[in-house]
Amino acid sequence: MTLNAQPEASHYIDGAFVEDLAGAPIEVVHPADGAVIARLHAATPALVERALNAAVRAQAEWAARRPVERGRILRRAADIIRERNRELSILETLDTGKPLQETLVADAASGADALEYFAGFAPTVTGQTIPQGRDFVYTTREPLGVCLGIGAWNYPTQIACWKAAPALAFGNAMIFKPSETTPLSALQVAAILTEAGLPAGLFNVLQGHGDLGAALVSDPRIAKVSLTGSVPTGRRVYAAAAEGIRHVTMELGGKSPLIVFEDASLEDAIGGAMLGNFYSSGQVCSNGTRVFVQRRIKDRFLDRLKARTEAIRLGDPLDEDTQMGPLVSAAQMEKVLGHIEGARAEGARLVTGGQRLNRPGFYVAPTVFADVTDAMAIAREEVFGPVMSVLDFDDEDEVVARANATEFGLSAGVFTQDLARAHRVIGRLQAGTCWINAYNLTPVEAPFGGVKLSGVGRENGHAALEHYTQVRTVYVGMGPVDAPY
Ligand code: NDP
Repeated sequence: MTLNAQPEASHYIDGAFVEDLAGAPIEVVHPADGAVIARLHAATPALVERALNAAVRAQAEWAARRPVERGRILRRAADIIRERNRELSILETLDTGKPLQETLVADAASGADALEYFAGFAPTVTGQTIPQGRDFVYTTREPLGVCLGIGAWNYPTQIACWKAAPALAFGNAMIFKPSETTPLSALQVAAILTEAGLPAGLFNVLQGHGDLGAALVSDPRIAKVSLTGSVPTGRRVYAAAAEGIRHVTMELGGKSPLIVFEDASLEDAIGGAMLGNFYSSGQVCSNGTRVFVQRRIKDRFLDRLKARTEAIRLGDPLDEDTQMGPLVSAAQMEKVLGHIEGARAEGARLVTGGQRLNRPGFYVAPTVFADVTDAMAIAREEVFGPVMSVLDFDDEDEVVARANATEFGLSAGVFTQDLARAHRVIGRLQAGTCWINAYNLTPVEAPFGGVKLSGVGRENGHAALEHYTQVRTVYVGMGPVDAPY
């Protein structure tokens, strides 16, 4: 079967698909077989200019609308996304290689949740009244202006919606630059928003590489930058945004600890560890890639983990029975295989997996290493692939100290039946997003984000309001002005 996912055009600007063949070519590859499924072009400076001008124009009118009206449009977009979930999920699977079994429930569905949540949230936003005797002060929450969203390739639809939904709900416009590896689904989100009634110019998609992102970050018309990406890119984007004192949200990488105490429900802990390492072929920023297992249960844990891991069904991601697909690109596969070789060389014990699959596409077998020590690269560097490291520990203080001995701080998880211990340990872990007896669940109602090098700001939940609005303070004088002159 020749797969074709060619969009109407490469970009979406001012309410319409737009092409400019003068832009550098971008080939979109289906990771399960390497076939080219779409050919796009990077945005030229003329298109960047068009998108920015459209966004500035549209935002002023949008901000003046009643929040309930803005919300109604986003709510309609959520409904359309849900109606077209299958079609959008197939596109996401073609673009990312993630199995349809996952994309049907985790990608467009999560994007729709964000649109629905912020649609309902926007009309509830109010300011404060602060009495000053005769006088008073009031505050209002106002949009920032034109926001720039820059996405990673692992959750293209979700990332576009998690950024667009709060931005638009609170009266901003957005220019969104997907990763050039997965440029397709953000275009469909844009078209659906237009269909739902979003005025032209409010959500624009520009394709391109890092240089396009860099040019946009430095443009004075951009008020805020929200990046989902790696720490090195985060550093560059944050620094460029600082030049213009722009607002930022940084959702960056991690090397998160998942701690399994000996009293944990073993099957639940293994299930959590597998979800937190193998879902989306391990390409999830919040993954619990350092699995600390209390020594007395280590052998039982590893036996069952090996059996369950070897039962994972790998295959064609478009087959709904497939549980794990390929990695997103040849480059990512090579990177992951390099980490696996490094772990072996450093003395980690391979429990299962450890190799590329003998089939076309960018498949790496789900891999478990045991006897991993804190100093090994596999325990310190983000792999972003289906590779779990199991480390042993003896007691609580020791594991907390080791779990925190990382420059990252995105997530953390604890499995134990002792709830007092669960809360005590979670409270001591340096991480922005934590789980107790669960892993990697990220409902839109819950704020999501990291500490330390894993980022600043939060997406989702009430916390997102802080990051897509600013406060205006108005002092109201009610009597004569008391001037000493
Ligand atoms: P990258 O950091 O390589 O890229 C992220 C985005 O930034 C891409 O769209 C990229 O464009 C763009 N970009 C690159 N350089 C610049 C620049 N100088 N200025 C502006 N934009 C730039 O990340 P990946 O796409 O490889 O994604 C994987 C990473 O994302 C992992 O580290 C992962 O942990 C992190 N991530 C974090 C999440 C979170 O919420 N905390 C969620 C998901 C992933 P291009 O691709 O065209 O180069």
